[in-house]
Order: sequence, then C-alpha cells, then structure tokens
Amino acid sequence: MPTLTFAVLPGDYIGPEVMTEALRVLDYIAAKEGLTLSYAIADVGGAGIDRHGKALPDSTLELCRRSDAILFGSVGGPKWEKLPPNDQPERAALLPLRKAFSLFANIRPGLLYKDLVDASPLKAERIPNGIDIVCIRELTGGIYFGQPKTTTTLENGEQQAIDTMVYKTSEIERIAEVAAVTARSRGRRVCSVDKANVLETSVLWRRTVTEYFARKHPDLALTHMYVDNAAMQLARDPNQFDVLFTENMFGDILSDEMAVICGSLGMMSSASLGVGSNSHGRPFGLYEPAGGTAPDIAGQGVANPCAQILSAALMLRYSFGLDALASRIEAAVRKTVTVDGVRTGDIAFGRPRVGTREMADAIMRNL
Ligand code: NAD
Repeated sequence: MPTLTFAVLPGDYIGPEVMTEALRVLDYIAAKEGLTLSYAIADVGGAGIDRHGKALPDSTLELCRRSDAILFGSVGGPKWEKLPPNDQPERAALLPLRKAFSLFANIRPGLLYKDLVDASPLKAERIPNGIDIVCIRELTGGIYFGQPKTTTTLENGEQQAIDTMVYKTSEIERIAEVAAVTARSRGRRVCSVDKANVLETSVLWRRTVTEYFARKHPDLALTHMYVDNAAMQLARDPNQFDVLFTENMFGDILSDEMAVICGSLGMMSSASLGVGSNSHGRPFGLYEPAGGTAPDIAGQGVANPCAQILSAALMLRYSFGLDALASRIEAAVRKTVTVDGVRTGDIAFGRPRVGTREMADAIMRNL
C-alpha cells in the first residue's frame, strides 16, 4: 500500500482544534485501509510569527517541499492584526505558499445539504434540495499579479494608481482543463464566467475556453456568462450551475458569495492545485477550510471540524488519487449531519449541540 506524505500546517485559533480531528479521521481510515501516513506538523501564520519570527518559517516551507500535499488549517486573528499588511499572517503565509507551489487552481465545493437549508440566507423554496455546485477560481494570474502595478503622482498633483489584468492562453487552458475534469466527475456542465463585453482578457478567455472545449472536451456542455449576471444567478438559482469557473478576481468574489449562500463556513472545504505532479503522479495541492480562524469561538472545543475533514478528503482525492476513500469520508460527514442529526453550534438550529471532538467521533463511527 502506498505511503501518503503530507505537511500539516494547523495555524491559529481554531486551526489546531479542527486539524486534530481531521488527523484522527485520517489516521482511523488509514489504519482500516492499510495505508501508511507520513506527516509532520509545522507552524504557520501567527504561530510561525510567535515562534520563528515569520508567518511562513523556512523550516515549514522546507517540510512542504518534501511533501506531496499540504493540509492547511487557517491563519490570523486579533493577536497579529496590528502588524503591517505585508506581515499579516494570511498575506505572509498563504501568498508565498501559492507562489512557491504555483497553486493556480482553487476548487471550492458549494455544498449545502437539504437538511441544512436553514443555514442559507436564500429562501428555502429556491433551494428545496440544498445546493451542490463547484466554483473553480484561477489563482495565480489576472489583476492581482499583473504588472505594472503602481501608484504615481501626476503633473497636476493628483495620484493615479494602475493595476494590470493579464492572461495568457496557456494559463486559461490549464484552468479550463481543471474545470472539465471536475465536470466529468459530476453533472458534465461547465459555465465559464467572464466580462467579454468589456475586457480584452475576457475576450481571450472566452475564445480560448471555447476552442479548448471544442478540441478536448466536445462532449461536455459549455456555456458562458458575464460576471455581473453570474453574481445575480448565484443568488437567484444556484443549482442552475454545475461547475462554475472563472479568472482570479471574479472568482474571489463569486466563491465568497457561494460560501455565504451555502451557509456555515464550518462545512466549506477547498483545494488549491499546483502545476506539475507529485510523487504519486497527481497534482501537488494545498487543502484548507474556506473559513478563517474563528477567534470568537476558539479554545472552547465547539468549532465545526467538518470543513477540515472534508478538506482532508479532497487531499485524498486530488493529490493521492484515492477517490473512493474521499467519497467515503464525504458520505460519512453527510450521514452524521443529516441522518444522525449530529450538529455543532454553527449548524444546530435548535438541535442539541455537540463539540468538535464528538462531531469527529460521530463521523468516524459512520466510516
Ligand atoms: P472566520 O471565517 O474566521 O469567522 C466568521 C464566522 O464564521 C465566525 O462567527 C466564526 O465563528 C464562524 N466560523 C468559521 N469557521 C467555523 C467553524 N469551523 N465552526 C464554527 N463556526 C465557524 O472569519 P473572520 O472572523 O472574518 O476572520 C478571523 C481571522 O481568520 C482573521 O484574522 C482573518 O484574516 C482570518 N482568515 C484566515 C483565512 C485563511 O487562513 N485562509 C481565511 C479567512 C479569514
């Protein structure tokens, strides 16, 4: 049986609490399946700053380089918010990791179980069966990274700032491929989101995506949508989408909108895949909950561990090719929350509440 080598970076506040439970689940399923897990735990974010003077300590980066994937918690919180913006845990840890491993594809399942529709701000009649979509965001290109990026003073004394949106065909094609592969494992429908009525990069995006799908994935249903319409449609009828994919800034906004309509952050997982292959011939990836460090509930043992556990499942699927095992974990989480009705406070809605550990115990019983 293969050895799964990954780096564990729990981070701050609830990060270590939910990570402990995700590791228990992974250890449990590995023992049952005869898999060998080889993982080491390292500081990142505020913990990195406090113990090593750096949000992404060199030793942590080295550990990640020796690994096939990163299981990440979340970083940041009030303790470090007075630091200069560039030294803030999120910016100083996550951005360098994205850069170091060329994590170009952010995959966020937008999953809301039927039994949890009350967690969504949408009216229940709009989502009678919950929500099940995926948002894929290009993560290393576009306006966040394009050059020039400057602020200058004009001759008349006023200031002018410039950001540059840049995309190359190859960058568009590789994210289109991720969208296609994802759609193949689901409803085989892909909606590419752009602003081709205004932006040159979007004209190239739309043309490239159309040609790429015609060439490589003619059997998949491809549609295009302007980003302003996509934002409305997500709030109106999210399930009209299967796989939604888009460039960096649009994806930043749409994926957060999707997180909101899907209810609790405690249930939302994500994967960020890199360029090239790991030692399993699969993409290197960073797997993390969509939410943050939840300082308001940290230290009480009440955080919902599901997002972290589901992120671990995504790691098994994408970086280790263990799709069936990932699906078993996902099914166990679903059964625990819906059939068994085991709920942490964020998804309780009047039901009895369990703590972080009890939730993980219940999930393991269903494995
Ligand atoms: P947050 O996501 O931490 O919390 C928002 C709300 O969701 C809170 O009420 C919180 O209790 C709840 N919540 C989040 N995760 C939960 C869970 N697993 N179980 C139960 N409830 C949960 O957002 P915030 O309060 O704006 O940010 C807190 C800190 O996290 C900030 O420093 C922020 O910068 C950081 N952050 C980090 C990441 C990351 O590491 N990728 C992402 C977002 C925010």
